[in-house]
Amino acid sequence: MPRPAAIIPLLLKHLPKKPATVFYPFEKLPVPEGYRGRHIYHVNKCNGCSLCARDCPTGAITMVPDTRPEGQRTKTGKRPKIFLAACMFCGQCTLSCPNGAIEMTKDYELAAYSKDEMNWIEVED
Ligand code: SF4
Ligand code: SF4
Repeated sequence: MPRPAAIIPLLLKHLPKKPATVFYPFEKLPVPEGYRGRHIYHVNKCNGCSLCARDCPTGAITMVPDTRPEGQRTKTGKRPKIFLAACMFCGQCTLSCPNGAIEMTKDYELAAYSKDEMNWIEVED
């Protein structure tokens, strides 16, 4: 560990430089392309095949009954529900889905007050 006096030249060297950190959450860094954040689910593209749930390595996807009115439901009457607290954001569900019904966004702000709030937001097409 440097002695206190040895820190002074270092301090003087870095004082005029821009901070390496940003004033989050008021200032945000750009999110790179391909970032895997919160999912978007396009319910009208989904046929309820369960491939996403089958391939999810953490078991974060559960198939639940599609409660929409008759005629609007998926072919199997089921649809996936993602529990974000169990998700490791690997992107496998987006690759397994044959219909492009699951996409990942650049949204990384996933903090919630309770685990029950950690279910993804559904987006209708
Ligand atoms: S991103 Fe990976 S861990 Fe998360 S729900 Fe999809 S397959 Fe499961
Ligand atoms: S989201 Fe895709 S993989 Fe999952 S049940 Fe729907 S169609 Fe099948």
